[in-house]
Amino acid sequence: MLNKQAASCAVTLCIAAGTFCASGSASAEYPEKPVTLVVPFVAGGPSDKIARDVAEAMRKTLGQTVVVENTAGAGGTIGTARVARAAPDGYTLLVHHIGLATAPSLYKKLGYKTADLEFLGLVNEAPSTLIGRPSLPPNALPDLRKFIAENGGKLNLANAGVGSASHLCGLMLQSAFKSNMTFVPYKGTAPAMSDIMGGQVDLMCEQATNSTPQIEAKKVKAYGVTSAQRSPVPALASIPTLNEAGLTGFNFTVWHGLYAPRGTPPAVLAKINTALRAALKDPALIQREEALGVMVVGDDRLSPAGHKKFFEGEASRWSKIIQDAGIQPE
Ligand code: ASP
Repeated sequence: MLNKQAASCAVTLCIAAGTFCASGSASAEYPEKPVTLVVPFVAGGPSDKIARDVAEAMRKTLGQTVVVENTAGAGGTIGTARVARAAPDGYTLLVHHIGLATAPSLYKKLGYKTADLEFLGLVNEAPSTLIGRPSLPPNALPDLRKFIAENGGKLNLANAGVGSASHLCGLMLQSAFKSNMTFVPYKGTAPAMSDIMGGQVDLMCEQATNSTPQIEAKKVKAYGVTSAQRSPVPALASIPTLNEAGLTGFNFTVWHGLYAPRGTPPAVLAKINTALRAALKDPALIQREEALGVMVVGDDRLSPAGHKKFFEGEASRWSKIIQDAGIQPE
């Protein structure tokens, strides 16, 4: 480890995109203690799963444990606020999904501003799947469509709170089915999945990360994948896209990104980005994610600049979808 004097000498860290080119000193010894990675949903769901995989792989480069903390509630906004207010020292990070880009359009009051966070790189992209409880009568999408038209508001659609990925997908389903199902919010999709399997709720739009094993084990009914293309994963390959099955133009994928509080020293951000890049090249991680239908993103979006550009595109695309659908912020 560098001593303090050596650390105060110029340590220049430049990563591919150049965003973190910085002469650093105080941060040269980072990390000297475990790093906390906040997941804004409960344990066992897709955000938690990807965060735990990435945390374990990042540990190998950082040389410190990366501890996952689940700070759930309000569609991920509570955990996000926790990180936005944390000390900007690289010891409190956030893994969050598409909901971070849409929350400003869905909430009148947020406990943070997106600008309170630094972009560190995109992590993954995954299709979702429309799944139902095993006892739900329809077996395929055309029948489900009829069933929804006949039963509408009596049917429950589980989600992980306003602005969660399952909620956003639910909003798209409402408009595609032209029907108002009843939304049932949870603090994450892990408990919602238990209720789908147990028959307490009817339907959910859930990321492949979490639904693939349950679909394979026939513990839930699968009506379609939400992406434009079918998933190449064997357990999902025979499931049509929602677009193919009749919901023309339906296309929804979820992505996760890594963030730090604004003001985190550039040299620290550079070290975290290097660890993230190494984690996403880890063959064991890639194999695990791909088996669940998740794509690890390419180098272009792994840079903070690439992540920011993608994020801003998603935020403006969704702000229009939300406005056009006449959804008022809560
Ligand atoms: N997948 C969830 C969502 O719908 C959140 C989670 O539990 O990871 O946003």
